[in-house]
Amino acid sequence: MNRFVARRFVGSPFLSRVAWRSFCDVASAEKQKLSSDTDEYDVAIVGGGMVGLAVACSLASMPLTKHLSVAIIDSNPALLKGIIITKDDPPDPRVSTVTPATISIFKEIGAWKFVEQHRHAYFDKMQVWDYTGLGYTHYNARDVNKELLGCVVENKVLQSSLLSCIQVADFQKQIFSARLNSMNLNPCSSLSEKDITSTRYQGSFAELELSDGTCIRAKLVIGADGSKSNVRELAGFKTTGWAYAQNAIICTVEHTAENDCAWQRFLPSGPIALLPIGDNFSNIVWTMSPNESSERKDMTESDFINSVNHALNYGYGPHPKSISAGDGGLLSWLGKGVTSSGGEVFKVPPRVVKLASERMVFPLSLKHANTYISKRVALVGDAAHTVHPLAGQGVNLGFGDAYALSKVINEGIAVGSDIGQVSLLGRYEAQRKPANIAMIAILDGFQKAYSIDFGPLNILRATGFNVANYFSPLKQNIISYACGEQKLPHFM
Ligand SMILES: Cc1cc2nc3c(=O)[nH]c(=O)nc-3n(C[C@H](O)[C@H](O)[C@H](O)COP(=O)(O)OP(=O)(O)OC[C@H]3O[C@@H](n4cnc5c(N)ncnc54)[C@H](O)[C@@H]3O)c2cc1C
Repeated sequence: MNRFVARRFVGSPFLSRVAWRSFCDVASAEKQKLSSDTDEYDVAIVGGGMVGLAVACSLASMPLTKHLSVAIIDSNPALLKGIIITKDDPPDPRVSTVTPATISIFKEIGAWKFVEQHRHAYFDKMQVWDYTGLGYTHYNARDVNKELLGCVVENKVLQSSLLSCIQVADFQKQIFSARLNSMNLNPCSSLSEKDITSTRYQGSFAELELSDGTCIRAKLVIGADGSKSNVRELAGFKTTGWAYAQNAIICTVEHTAENDCAWQRFLPSGPIALLPIGDNFSNIVWTMSPNESSERKDMTESDFINSVNHALNYGYGPHPKSISAGDGGLLSWLGKGVTSSGGEVFKVPPRVVKLASERMVFPLSLKHANTYISKRVALVGDAAHTVHPLAGQGVNLGFGDAYALSKVINEGIAVGSDIGQVSLLGRYEAQRKPANIAMIAILDGFQKAYSIDFGPLNILRATGFNVANYFSPLKQNIISYACGEQKLPHFM
């Protein structure tokens, strides 16, 4: 097959269907295996969460992938009915801090304009400190000549924006309100080698059986079905990881004035974050032992609010003393390397006055798929990696996967590759695995460093805070990395 024909064959849903049907005719005649009314797609995305929808949206936005036929499989009825968000809706307690890199991806695939129609909060400063009172760090976007450090967006806003983007795109998609039950990655295994290598079989596929009894076939199955991924399991991919002896309690809270800064304080049992989400609301992500999380979930609202204010203020230890590199202390040797935000004094976060949502509890774990791809399968998002939420990076890594995978598929179509081939999908894995592993290692290192309350280690951590606060190159590097740039911080 010449390149032009190959390109059209893989890139055009019509041609791929024609080719597929001729393949099916032969296959069913010879093997009596395939039912003629089974739908065929170029791509089946299993999981219509934030990352699965980002894959669909990204495919819809690229010049060659937008011609693919795409099935999205998820039992969430909101995907079919649409996610309606009104201005007066109370904020969703599930939010994500999205990085500037994610915002760029959303802009490029056409989804950010929908996010901007709903509640969201850009922030350009962050204060991080710990309970020992020995150190603190201010991060400011202007330290790296940026306008913002990120944006806090409710998960339902991210999901509905991606869905709106897909709905308006001129794109062949079909949403199945069902779950994936079983998957056969090699339905042609009984065909002879000669048949398989002949051009008639180049539209080879995976077969999926859904919970409502529907069967579909696809050239590529994308597992975007979260940390307990069925696709990962059915494809036989092993994982590495462990459960943390920690839960996160999340909720929305109200202040008397608007909060425009992201705050994070490390406590003996885990970090508490107060993230601005617009108006007078903030979101709390508070990590603690499973016992503490059960107690705090069930306590009265006023007790809970008191415990939040205690955790964000004087509880567990004193406020750090505000110092500057010019004070002549340990950090004076840093001299000119001090960032503009290095001289900022320690601030007390705004007081929480009211609970504005239910409290939700999530067990925390680290899980990484040892492989992301095999013939006709690729994993993205939490299906490939589940990380500790302490730096708000999980779904950002997933959006990076979604974008990288669609680009690789687009490049494959351009040169006439079969989009389910390992040689093509391997390029996606080679790009994303090292980046994801590096972030996982950093987050796990932080989690472990803060699991130990031990004098010398406390001082070392506090010195780390202070050095990060005052030393420009390190601070700039940390900010850039946290903003989604791929270059690792210098301490790595
Ligand atoms: C407390 C907490 C706070 C967090 N904060 C942040 C943050 O600030 N920033 C950030 O970047 N990340 C954050 N994360 C991580 C983020 O929430 C996850 O990384 C993200 O939800 C993963 O998205 P996903 O689409 O990959 O998976 P999921 O959100 O788990 O979606 C998976 C989808 O697959 C569907 N599904 C599952 N099984 C099947 C099946 N068999 N068939 C069909 N469909 C199926 C489900 O219905 C679901 O819709 C946080 C996580 C936690 C726990």
